[in-house]
Amino acid sequence: MPPRKMNSAAKTDDSLEWANPNMMEFIQLKMRTFVAAADADDHLDFMKHHGEAVKEITGRSTASLKAGADGGVHVDSLNLAVRLLTGCGAAKDVDGALELLLFVAPILPDELPQQRRAPRGVEARANSVLSAAWMDIATREMPKHMDMDALRRAAKFANSAAALGFVPPVVLFVAKRLAELGARSAAEWEARLGVPYDSRYGEFEHMWEAFDRRVEEMEAELKAQGKKVAKRPTSYCCAAPGCGITATKKAALLRCSGGCPAETKAHYCSKECQTADWKRHKPACRPRKGETAATVDPGLNAETRPAPDPGRPIVDGLVNDGKERSIVIDDPSMAGGKLTISSRTMGPAALRNIRDAVEKISLS
Ligand SMILES: [Zn+2]
Ligand SMILES: [Zn+2]
Repeated sequence: MPPRKMNSAAKTDDSLEWANPNMMEFIQLKMRTFVAAADADDHLDFMKHHGEAVKEITGRSTASLKAGADGGVHVDSLNLAVRLLTGCGAAKDVDGALELLLFVAPILPDELPQQRRAPRGVEARANSVLSAAWMDIATREMPKHMDMDALRRAAKFANSAAALGFVPPVVLFVAKRLAELGARSAAEWEARLGVPYDSRYGEFEHMWEAFDRRVEEMEAELKAQGKKVAKRPTSYCCAAPGCGITATKKAALLRCSGGCPAETKAHYCSKECQTADWKRHKPACRPRKGETAATVDPGLNAETRPAPDPGRPIVDGLVNDGKERSIVIDDPSMAGGKLTISSRTMGPAALRNIRDAVEKISLS
């Protein structure tokens, strides 16, 4: 057995894993390239991805993957490339990763004999990982410099993934970047960039089609969710300023049981947030009919934590396990510049920790 240092850490302390930046990069790359965007955008169960990543890294040694890749096993080449790109489970080696990926997703796959081609899903994922790798190369020196040749390569592989019917977030992100640059029309391109249009951008029809379809879907989803939220805007996000925890179902959050009106009822992700927000919220939290202000405010102030009033808990239903909570993360590598992660099992503090960790990697 080769020494596998990560094993003991992974098995004994799950909570440490997202403090490991390479594990985070590994999970992030897989979220960008291995999951269809339609599933990733509205339901990204971070714990699930995390658990799978730990299992994958600890379940198969890099030496064994290498042996498989050397023997021509496509899926081993793909998985090894992900490790080499992220430095998770293996030393970082971008060139080595690109070479492995091109074996799985060759530039001209139709010229290969069918039996030498990777299974469709593996080839599609190799294309999306290639797209992400080239996108990272293209934007390495942003905002100072964008490598347009690398960007076009990213688009080529994004288009190949889409042609195989697979549209993970990276495909949409590359399309969005190019659309922003005006790559969909010669006139726009020349007006914005002041250089002659590269007509090869027009060839990425599968990528553009997937992009248009997803934009339409997202608009419809936003509209539906927007209607629901517009009715009771305070019911879907934690009222504490700066917290950022949201929920698609209002039952996932805790309701203030004070006298604030139902239409603008304050909701919280946790008792801690309610306590922190009490000073701000108190004026809006008028007593219910027949009650005095004193019974609504059982000694809550900035210095003391609220003593739960046994007769009337400050917050209804303290335990909300199994309810889905979300947090929005600024992540420039996602198509919308944002990544929503959600979990039914993680507490608000853990979600905020992940937000901070992902933002640290993505924005660095
Ligand atoms: Zn909160
Ligand atoms: Zn209230």
